[in-house]
Amino acid sequence: MQKNEHLLYLEALNRRDMLNTPELNTEFNNLTKGHEGEELFSNYFQTYAHQNWVLFEDYWFNIEGPGQADKLILSDNLWYLIDTKHYTGHLVYQNRTVTINNKRYRNIFNDMETRTSKIQQIAAQISTNITIKPVIVFTGNDFTYTLHDPVHMDIVIRTAIRQFIQTLPYTHPLTNHTQTLKTLNKYRTPYNKHYDRLTPEAFPQLKKGIYCPNCHKYNTRKHKSAIYCPNCQIEEHLPALINRHATELLYLFPNHPQILTATNLYELMGKQFSRNTILNHLKNNFESIKKSQYTYYQPTPK
Ligand SMILES: [Zn+2]
Repeated sequence: MQKNEHLLYLEALNRRDMLNTPELNTEFNNLTKGHEGEELFSNYFQTYAHQNWVLFEDYWFNIEGPGQADKLILSDNLWYLIDTKHYTGHLVYQNRTVTINNKRYRNIFNDMETRTSKIQQIAAQISTNITIKPVIVFTGNDFTYTLHDPVHMDIVIRTAIRQFIQTLPYTHPLTNHTQTLKTLNKYRTPYNKHYDRLTPEAFPQLKKGIYCPNCHKYNTRKHKSAIYCPNCQIEEHLPALINRHATELLYLFPNHPQILTATNLYELMGKQFSRNTILNHLKNNFESIKKSQYTYYQPTPK
């Protein structure tokens, strides 16, 4: 599955030495591990799920307040609402409190109940016959749990994911596909609304230069109209190189598309290729938008 925009943002921050608080570092590590867990689930789903099920991933929505669903598995009258958690250790749920290895955590079971009722409200706009089945999937390798309080959802641990997916009951295909997706999208919100993002004032602090697209090290060498990585022994040529850095700038400043100018790209790439070369590439491959003082570029719609 695709990485979500927030993980792409944090990865870009990491490469430009901008994960500069313990909170951002923790978030980056958690999200990277979480992505592995979600990918594991998606891969099993692609391989083992009955073809009638439709998987809808990484859904951020707002209905009487914001919410997020890792995955929805859809059919006409039954939806599985899946939340994946990549924890390790022993989880205990007692007196409405969640601890893992004796450390207090968010009440993920409460969160799931709230999320379920919100998804139920969205589903009700399509049909009142849709049942929502909430499932928490624990994707961590070394994970066990003990529940003293009741929870109103299924729990699946890593070693049981394959069986869970294989035994999803045979169902009728999602016949009202268009209306279902239209309704889900009606309540969708962009990721960017949920997080603080860099503002253009931070641009001077970014680490500058060209890192290898494969090993991400900065010791690349310029070689004619390409860069060469001595570790990976690979070359990357100019068009791909400029596109990659343009994409990176937009990941870093998702709320400020005007950041993508020839000068900024020239600086981000460590001034290793001339500003004119970069400008020409942008002119020929991107859409230009003129402001009074400067011109910025955006990817041409496909
Ligand atoms: Zn490399």
